[in-house]
Amino acid sequence: MMHPVYANLPVTIFEEMSGLARVHDAINLGQGFPDTSGPEAVRRKAAEEIVGGYNQYPPMRGLPDLRRAAAAHYARFQGLDLDWETEITITSGATEALAASFLALIKPGDEVVLFEPLYDAYLPLVRRAGGVPRFATLKPPHWRLDRDMLDAVFSDRTALVVMVNPVNPTGVVWRDEDLALLAQYCVAHDAVAICDEVWEQIVFDGRVFKPLMSFPGMRERTVKIGSAGKMFALTGWKVGFLCAAPELTKGLAGAHQFLTFSTAPPLQAAVAWGLENSADWFASMPLALARSRDRLTEGLRSVGYAVMPSEGTYFLNVDLAASGINEDDHSFCLRAVKEHGVASIPVSVFYETDPPRHIMRLCFAKRDETLDAAVERLGKARRG
Ligand code: GLN
Repeated sequence: MMHPVYANLPVTIFEEMSGLARVHDAINLGQGFPDTSGPEAVRRKAAEEIVGGYNQYPPMRGLPDLRRAAAAHYARFQGLDLDWETEITITSGATEALAASFLALIKPGDEVVLFEPLYDAYLPLVRRAGGVPRFATLKPPHWRLDRDMLDAVFSDRTALVVMVNPVNPTGVVWRDEDLALLAQYCVAHDAVAICDEVWEQIVFDGRVFKPLMSFPGMRERTVKIGSAGKMFALTGWKVGFLCAAPELTKGLAGAHQFLTFSTAPPLQAAVAWGLENSADWFASMPLALARSRDRLTEGLRSVGYAVMPSEGTYFLNVDLAASGINEDDHSFCLRAVKEHGVASIPVSVFYETDPPRHIMRLCFAKRDETLDAAVERLGKARRG
């Protein structure tokens, strides 16, 4: 009856944990979303556009104003030279951009290199598109890759590599030498890289985000995916950027046109406006998030948790074993939400092979009082 990929597919951990958070009236540090509303001026612009603007089908590849604004944004922040007309497609969120990429670029039997821990949408989409996954596993505490790892997974059948930077769930920002190494393997194996860069605007402590597309040999073989939802703390908007050289974009836009065809034009117009008028926001947003990261880190440490460093994203991780907790991540996370009222994400769900079972992911993109209340409750959860 059903395609095997979907026959037994569980509901995503994000939906499961947010559901449990609602039932148990818990503080939700599981699914990654801020508990604030995003910049008011951008939301006002969307409201104006809904009332007085254009609300019929926009061009399939996206509003020209937004594609121009995205090209200008990536030129300003990342030094990229994207042509708005032939190299940028607007999607209904980054997940649609990922689906369009896999549908357009995977031929049945193609090998696809994936890094564990891996975001949960990748694997079902790769498998449904006919790809054969090959896993490279990054290990705590540093989560770095090396030549041996890449030698073991690249082959003459490698068609695609999927990477995320900064990394959800680990909070790592890829080092330049790791990006350069991956680029070398992509070029040597004539592989295309799908780069999930939705956290590109959220890096801390003076780090500079570098897109894989900017490395030697990668300009023509990279699909760069971005997210207005993450850029503007408006995760429900689902406006994504799908960027690639013209030949790739033809196929990607072909897949996009029969997935969603287009994305709500008032939201596109508001994002275009936001990209052009948010220099202050882009400077202040990561600083505010870094302060929230520090607040949650210090709070958790004060009640006995071993917190791992976070260099970007909305997330930090807790080493449960090093915190003296002898429970696996999944049962601890279930107990924390049901008995102590804090939802979190067990990191083992981000693995297909041999997961570590002692790491819990928490979202710190929350108000101070939310974080403080969560710390108090988690302090009790640690004591059993
Ligand atoms: N990206 C979000 C996270 O990692 C989840 C998004 C979703 O649930 N679709 O928490």
